[in-house]
Amino acid sequence: MLATLHRIVQAVNSAPDLNSALQVIVREVKRAVKADVCSVYLTDYEKHRHVLSATHGLRQEAVGKVSLPLHRGLIGLVCERAEPINLDDAPSHPRYMFVTDTGEMPYHGFLGVPVIQNRRVLGVLVVRQRKPRKFEDNEVTFLFTLAAQLAGAITHAQAQGELSAAPGSEVAQMRYLDGRPSASGVALGSVVVTYRMDDLEAIPDRRTDEPEREIAQFRDAVARVEDSLRRLQSRLEEVLPAEEKALFDALLLMLGSDNLVTQTIERIRQGEWVQSALHHTIEEHARVFDQMEDVYLRERASDIRDLGRRILMRLQSDTPREVHYPERTILVGEDVSGVELMEVPPERLAGVVSARGSSASHVAIIARAMGVPAVMGVTDLPVTRMEGRELVVDGYRGRVYISPTAAVLNEYRRLIDEERQLSQELEVLKGLPAETTDGCKMPLYLNTGLVSEMQSLEANEAAGVGLYRTELPFMVSDRFPGESAQIANYRQVLESFSPRPVILRTLDIGGDKSLPYFPSQESNPFLGWRGVRVSLGHPEIFLTQIRAMLRAAVGLDNLRIMLPLITTVGELDDAMLLIQRAYDELLDEGVAVTMPQVGVMVEVPAAVFQVAALARRVDFISIGTNDLTQYLLAVDRNNPRVAELYDELHPAVLKALVMVAEGAAKFNCPVSVCGEMAGNPLAVVLLLGMGIDGLSMSAGSLLKVKWVIRSFSRARARQLLQAALRMEDAPPVKLLLKGALEEVGLGALVHPGK
Ligand code: PEP
Ligand code: MG
Repeated sequence: MLATLHRIVQAVNSAPDLNSALQVIVREVKRAVKADVCSVYLTDYEKHRHVLSATHGLRQEAVGKVSLPLHRGLIGLVCERAEPINLDDAPSHPRYMFVTDTGEMPYHGFLGVPVIQNRRVLGVLVVRQRKPRKFEDNEVTFLFTLAAQLAGAITHAQAQGELSAAPGSEVAQMRYLDGRPSASGVALGSVVVTYRMDDLEAIPDRRTDEPEREIAQFRDAVARVEDSLRRLQSRLEEVLPAEEKALFDALLLMLGSDNLVTQTIERIRQGEWVQSALHHTIEEHARVFDQMEDVYLRERASDIRDLGRRILMRLQSDTPREVHYPERTILVGEDVSGVELMEVPPERLAGVVSARGSSASHVAIIARAMGVPAVMGVTDLPVTRMEGRELVVDGYRGRVYISPTAAVLNEYRRLIDEERQLSQELEVLKGLPAETTDGCKMPLYLNTGLVSEMQSLEANEAAGVGLYRTELPFMVSDRFPGESAQIANYRQVLESFSPRPVILRTLDIGGDKSLPYFPSQESNPFLGWRGVRVSLGHPEIFLTQIRAMLRAAVGLDNLRIMLPLITTVGELDDAMLLIQRAYDELLDEGVAVTMPQVGVMVEVPAAVFQVAALARRVDFISIGTNDLTQYLLAVDRNNPRVAELYDELHPAVLKALVMVAEGAAKFNCPVSVCGEMAGNPLAVVLLLGMGIDGLSMSAGSLLKVKWVIRSFSRARARQLLQAALRMEDAPPVKLLLKGALEEVGLGALVHPGK
């Protein structure tokens, strides 16, 4: 049964649309469990019905026409209970309903399994038997597994439906795709799809104006792949076992087959650009093999896809990627990276949408820093079909509207006006001190890593730079930047803020920040080789960076160095020794460097519990709440599936912050916060109450946070903190803080975009 399951899952996953996926399921399930009928009902909550959407065994004409009431019958019961119901004699059950217009007869055996996604029942998969029959356990689990696959196919198809729905139709009016709100703001613009070069499935659909030129390119690429395969084959002739040789023959045969080549050419002639024409042809062929019973033949599907990738790579090596970015570009991708975001000319970037990632992903942080709305984790995003579409990105609610209707557009234009109004209200705060109503000062610093952010007008508001992410310049480079390139970079930021202090954080790569020229494959990257662990593993990289920092600061004296992801005092001691060594070397070389203040980030729970040992050794502590939240709550900050659990107002996070603030105070070690929490108006009240000494955030948050600081007394903030610490979950904390902000007239910060 496992092989059958595998085959059906493959076929469902590669079905071109929901209808085909449903057809495969009902046909194959009926056959596999030897039932008389297999049907799928999809639940329409608005109409309160379960609609017969596919069947094998009942009348085909009933499909799409017959539907059952939401809360009646056995199908209704499966939906209500959200668990399987297995009956050997269905007609004797009190909820049994006899439906005539499906061509039904009194079936006895009944097994109904709910199709569930994110705790919501989307439909019911059911098998029926004329004779009494209790289905076996393994048959129940078989249906269960398929129902889970079906759930994915249904949500995906609903997302695809956004694209095919006629403009102005009911579907187009209502529908939007949900993701995680990741950078506030609203944007309207046109989509540019970004994708990994070697990923055939990620190729966006585009049109071509030059079919003949692209056909020639394609023929050339095919000829060159054929040639390279032949050469490889003859080189390996002696060493290859027979079955591997057969693989080469098979690949060459496919390449020579008229179908693959002529079908692609036909698609190009009809106006598809060469890369997506290739993608669609390859998929069509691979799908035929995906559905084969024979394991050996099924494997041929991956050979076809491999062939497709080879041709694709040839095509791409001939045509350098030229991207035209429209005036209001919304960058869309399966897994948009920080570098891809930075490649868009900043004046053209209006928003970003990614199928993967969450609000704590680094690309979201960069989007916030650049002041563009972002929605991450839109898992059902039909990426490849979105190129050139009009899009509304709602970064407040985490919604994306594809080809929005006039009504949606009007609503969002109104929100954009409201935003403009809020910015004007904030303008009056410029130049005013960040000071509570009872005279307590809270310095606000800037988080940066990009030159464009430092040049923003709000940057003048900052008391200095609280976090300079040095890895960003490393990420946009094609090799490790040398000492002098780094000096130039650091000098620029130190000079532009002098005499205000600038905290340069040492290289923090790993996790979701990788360097293309320094790849590392790990199954658990966030628990792996990242932050200071990489620097200590490669002292030559670390020493070069420290030397560059020290030399860049000569004559300025506003440099501070900060170490990320410290987990043990041993790591801190080792890093300190290396800093001392770089300093001594430079003095020996006659460079007039001074020893800067050195601090650590508290981002790992272990560091919270060892705050005393750390505080004794350093000049300052900065809490990286992005990582600290991820590690305390065991929620991968980049994973949209668990993004709802990621909450910096979780009581455990608040208690950890209090521990750090109190622990460091005993050693007179100043503590600031540089995670995104410092720029969250709600959280700021609590940080104020904790006695945090400074807050560091992206430019766009500076004035909003200043508004909060100037609206509260420290005494009131302490009261609110005490109340929050008595709560057992994040939602009541959020409610408490929203109420407190509204009370002092800051409602606009609490409900932006509503
Ligand atoms: C943090 O973890 O809070 C932090 C500021 O560092 P980053 O977001 O760059 O990991
Ligand atoms: Mg961090």
